[in-house]
Order: sequence, then structure tokens, then C-alpha cells
Amino acid sequence: MNSMHPQLQAQRVKTTTMTLVSSLLQALLIGLFAWNGTVTWMVAGWFFVLSVGSTGFFLLAVVRGWNLRFRDRWLLWAQLLANYLIQLIFIVAAPRLWMIFLASSLVSFNYAMLGFTPQQFRWTWLGFGATTALALWIGRARFAYPELTNFNIVLMWLFFFLAVRRLSLIGMQFSTLRAELSQRNKQLTLSLARIQELASHDDLTGAFNRRHFMELLQDERERSHRTQQPYSVALFDLDHFKAINDRFGHAAGDAVLRDFCTLVQAHMRVTDRFARWGGEEFVLLMPVTTPVESASLAVERIRSAVAAHGWTSIEGLPADFRVTVSAGVATSVRGEAVEALVARADTALYQAKRAGRNCFVMAP
Ligand code: GH3
Ligand code: MG
Ligand code: MG
Repeated sequence: MNSMHPQLQAQRVKTTTMTLVSSLLQALLIGLFAWNGTVTWMVAGWFFVLSVGSTGFFLLAVVRGWNLRFRDRWLLWAQLLANYLIQLIFIVAAPRLWMIFLASSLVSFNYAMLGFTPQQFRWTWLGFGATTALALWIGRARFAYPELTNFNIVLMWLFFFLAVRRLSLIGMQFSTLRAELSQRNKQLTLSLARIQELASHDDLTGAFNRRHFMELLQDERERSHRTQQPYSVALFDLDHFKAINDRFGHAAGDAVLRDFCTLVQAHMRVTDRFARWGGEEFVLLMPVTTPVESASLAVERIRSAVAAHGWTSIEGLPADFRVTVSAGVATSVRGEAVEALVARADTALYQAKRAGRNCFVMAP
């Protein structure tokens, strides 16, 4: 999946190359220490092989894309561990430079902490203590200090400066990793919101979909059962809608469906819930319909608003274009299943169509 992020991989190559350059310069400094007799040429040679060899190997791994096979695509832990082990080896192997290697290992340890849990922190701290103690114990008889000439002090400072440079490179990789993670988090949050929207809403009109409406209806039934307040459902069906499609095209039909929803939502109560039942049929849930005529008043308000509406904002419709809607309304009876309530509203809707459309019928 990360192969889809070539810019990230390019950045890995860049930082790993800079790490290799730093380790080359460090090896050069140890070479200068060998030249003035502080360490042996053997030590300098091995430092070159291990330090440049390991950073070179990491560069090769990133260039070849081997890193993509691992969960830690930056190879951070492997790089830190290799660096730490090399410092440890040279605490023992370079008796007069042991403290610059010990100091370098400390910074490396410090950076490793960035990604650790408190539990890992404790174990790494103990591991660090044990391994440095072991290295110091093995080298205890041979430790000394370089002559404190200006030249040696400059070399030591440069070595340490480069060690910090290498670790700042690792720090850069950490922060890129963090940025990458938070970016991915943001995308996930957006997708989740989109999925939730899709799961409960109709794509065309933005009204609730049928599945979500049934959940709302079920909730309302339970609430009504507790409070003993009845609720009502109205099924709406646009009249002669097929003719609208046939005369003005499917796109105009879609626009009418969308505007119809906006119109209903402007005329319903804020506590009402409106959904697309399917095709050109819609359903309205009206909680707490007491007194008994409040449901019919609400549906009549919507019916007359639709009949009076001018659809001028829709392109391709004549100025005198009108749409009407028929509705069937049912008010809940105690204990009734929601499916039965909707079925009664549907029967009432059928009767409203038979009665000549542009009207509503209350289910008995
Ligand atoms: P009635 O007054 O008896 O309800 O007549 P009608 O033409 O509205 O009823 P019918 O069920 O015969 O036709 C419904 C039409 O609604 C047919 C179908 O093409 C159209 N329709 C359903 N869904 C959509 C949609 O998403 N977009 C558009 N443009 N038309 C739709
Ligand atoms: Mg229909
Ligand atoms: Mg219809």
C-alpha cells in the first residue's frame, strides 16, 4: 500500500542517504584519531566497516524497497538498534574514546523513547543499563582518555556533533511518520462520516432512507409505548409523476423530487422525521400527534404547499407547471407493530389516489 506513496519512499531514500554521509564523516574522524595515535588503525577500520556498512545497507534496503515488506517502513528500530550496538562495541574496542561512544549511545536511547509505551520505556531503560554496564565491565582495565590537545577536542566535538546530526535525521523520520499517521486519521474520519451519511440517507434527495426510517419508527414506537402518546405516519406519493419524466426528462424529475423534499422539510415540525420510501414515495413520522387532528393539519399544510408551489428554479419546466401529492395518514394504536401502521397508511394512500389525487385520507 505504501508503494502508492512514492514521495514518502523518496524521502526515506533522502534521509537514509544523509545518515550514510554522516556515518562516513564519523568514520573519517575516527581515521584521524588513528592517524594521531589515539586509537589503532584496526579500530578505525572496523568502525568504518560496521558504521558505514550498516548505514549503507539500510540505504540499499530502502533503494531496493525491501523496507516496504516490514511494518516499520522507515526501519527506525533497526537503524537505532544497529547504531546503538556499534556505539556499545566501540566503548569496549576504543579504550581512549569510550566516553564519546557512550555519550552517542545516550542520544540514540533518548530518540528511541519517542515512539515507546511506558512499559517499553522501562524495559529499554533496563536493557540500556545492563548493556552499557556490561560494555564498561568488559573494557574496565583498558579505559583511558585521549590527550587533550586542541585537535583531539575538535575531533571529539565533531564526532558528537555528527552523532546528533544522525539522530536528528531519525527525529525527522519520526515526525514525518506522525504527520503521515494524522493525515491517514483525517481521511478515515472523513470516510467514516461519508459511510454514516450513506448508511442513513438517500443519495438523490438527502432525506433519510427507508432502512434508517424504520429504526426511527421503532424508537418512536417504544417511546410512545412508555409515554402513552400516539404518533402518526403519513405516506406521500407524487401524482402522475411518470408523466413528468416522460414530458420533461428524468433530470427534471430528479430535481422535482429534490425540491419536493426541501418543501416538505420546510413545512414539517422540527421533531418530525422525513424519509424517501422509494421512487416518488415519501414517508413522514410525526411524534406526539395529540390532539387527534394535529396529524391531518400537518399533512394538509404540506399538501397545499406542494399544490401552490411554483417550480421555477428547475430548468426546462413551464412557468405554470404544478405538481400535486396524495397522502395516506395513520395514527398509532397501542401495541401496534410499525409495519402494520405503515400498511394502514398505504391503504389510505391508495384510497386518496382513488378519490382523485391531490388529497389525503386518514386511515380508520
Ligand atoms: P400516480 O399518480 O398513480 O402515483 O402515478 P405515477 O405516475 O406517479 O405512478 P407510477 O408508479 O406509475 O410512476 C412512478 C414514476 O416515478 C415512475 C418512475 O420512473 C418514477 N421514478 C421513480 N424513482 C424516480 C427517480 O429517482 N427519479 C425520477 N426522475 N423518476 C423516478
Ligand atoms: Mg408510486
Ligand atoms: Mg406517483
